[in-house]
Amino acid sequence: MSSRRDSTEEQNVPRETPSKSTDATLCERLEEYVPIEEPNGGGICIFCEEYNEKFTEENLITHYWKECPILTKCRLCNIILEISTLDDHMLFDCDKCQFVKQCSICHEVVDTDDYLAHINKKTCIAINDDKVSCPLCRGVIKPANEYGWNLHLLGANGCPKNSRKPNNKPDVFQ
Ligand SMILES: [Zn+2]
Ligand SMILES: [Zn+2]
Ligand SMILES: [Zn+2]
Ligand SMILES: [Zn+2]
Repeated sequence: MSSRRDSTEEQNVPRETPSKSTDATLCERLEEYVPIEEPNGGGICIFCEEYNEKFTEENLITHYWKECPILTKCRLCNIILEISTLDDHMLFDCDKCQFVKQCSICHEVVDTDDYLAHINKKTCIAINDDKVSCPLCRGVIKPANEYGWNLHLLGANGCPKNSRKPNNKPDVFQ
């Protein structure tokens, strides 16, 4: 018996699934995030590190839902999650992930119905596969870590495509 074809067959390397996708549970996790209480009242958002004397547990939830520049809402299922995990969420974890597809050239996550039109436009700006890019503006995140994300979302005026603007930026990002 010498039918060991598999050793000569070309290996079909599966697309690597990101291992750090914890976003699907963020909504549940939000409830565990007790605000850091300051001695003089108020609290700090653990995502953007904004300190606000009006931040009570309740106001912080509103901040997460509407204002925090680190967070966004998935347009497919409406959960709140970190912008840095939005692409992975929509492609792999979202209940409605079957309705979207990622453009292999520009990495934009587009509705499956619009996919052909998107490709045919031929206006995509190519992004290398090893680069991390912002789901909102497709800007490349440098460095590709939490610092880079904070720089992009909290620095200067924040992400150009993010309607949530940073309020009081930590000095490092000025
Ligand atoms: Zn925040
Ligand atoms: Zn979703
Ligand atoms: Zn594209
Ligand atoms: Zn951006």
